Amino acid sequence: MGKVPVLSYSGFRTYSECPQRWKFLYLDRLPEAPRSYFSFGRSIHSALEEFVAPLVATPSGGDGRRLGRQTTLLDFPGEAPRILSVEELLALYERHWVREGYSSPEEEKRYFDLGRDLLIRFHRVFSAELPMPLAVEKELATTVEGLPVHGIIDRIDRRPEGGLEVLDYKTTRELSLRDAAESDQLTLYQMLVEGNYDLPVERLTLYHLRSLTPLRSPARDRDRVADLAMRLGEVADGIRSDDQDPTPGPYCKWCEFRRLCPEFREVPSQDRERVAELVRRYRELRARPSPLPSELEEVTREIQAEAKRLDIRRLPGANGSQIHLRREARWTVPLPEALARFPVHGVRPPSPPSDDPDRVALRRHDPRLPPALRRELLALTSREVSWHLDLEGPGAF
Ligand code: SF4
Repeated sequence: MGKVPVLSYSGFRTYSECPQRWKFLYLDRLPEAPRSYFSFGRSIHSALEEFVAPLVATPSGGDGRRLGRQTTLLDFPGEAPRILSVEELLALYERHWVREGYSSPEEEKRYFDLGRDLLIRFHRVFSAELPMPLAVEKELATTVEGLPVHGIIDRIDRRPEGGLEVLDYKTTRELSLRDAAESDQLTLYQMLVEGNYDLPVERLTLYHLRSLTPLRSPARDRDRVADLAMRLGEVADGIRSDDQDPTPGPYCKWCEFRRLCPEFREVPSQDRERVAELVRRYRELRARPSPLPSELEEVTREIQAEAKRLDIRRLPGANGSQIHLRREARWTVPLPEALARFPVHGVRPPSPPSDDPDRVALRRHDPRLPPALRRELLALTSREVSWHLDLEGPGAF
């Protein structure tokens, strides 16, 4: 069983999408390819961090946690700080500009000018609104369902009503209110803030920097928080059980690890003939009206052994045909037994009686259920893994 490293939102999202990519990034620590939008985002974030940081009060001399005292900038201990001028903000931007990842000097200049314009407008709006930042680029940690989780939050503001607003800056082109309402990242940030501050979270905001639009959503309710806790728990179980299998999807197009990935890795030249022969045998057997099961089993076993030895998922045959080994894994429980445990603990079983063992298995991480029931569900949960051989290309059926 693998140890679960501290999970961040991006670790959670990466693992949920593709455990193999998560392994490359978080266990093997392979560097991500530099990209223009990462560099641009980092440059803007760093400039804004330095711009807003002087306005964060730490009157107790601490780090601003458990801080319930600051109500306006004027409540600073001592003299209220001066807001940096737009020229000073632009100087910060120049100092923090990250040059890597751009395809040409022209592209870099386009992005730089975009950021400059964006910050000038940001300065105007910020100075007029004068928010009450309580923390900026704040690293927070908590545990969710026994999991160590951490995140760096762009900004936490104190609201006039007394609660908190959690803000995440976005430099992406498009963003909608729906993104804010559905964002798992904001839900996780709410969990982190609630685990570290005494004040309630009132609003969750994706701040669209290109249009200077705060896309606001009310704080998540208990059910939304529980839903994310369950999915975090499932990811942690996957990591603990060393499940690091590739799950290919449209995102593979942008994955810089394709060359290393079992889904796309090439078969070494000395093995190609043997692999192609296996594909030919399999294709021939499958083309027969009634192939002998024992023969099919034998060649399937050989294919699986070869794929394992070479650590590949696609076995190329002749003329563009190939066998794709597809793995399906799920957490599941014996349904009648699991459903019977709910009333024992005074909890109504999922209703209408669920016929989806995967959904019931997920409830082992449901923080709304009594711990004893969750332990029992956990004991009943197991991982089911099945393999499928898909014949693709000419000769497939
Ligand atoms: S190429 Fe696709 S399947 Fe392979 S690691 Fe990257 S995202 Fe995962």
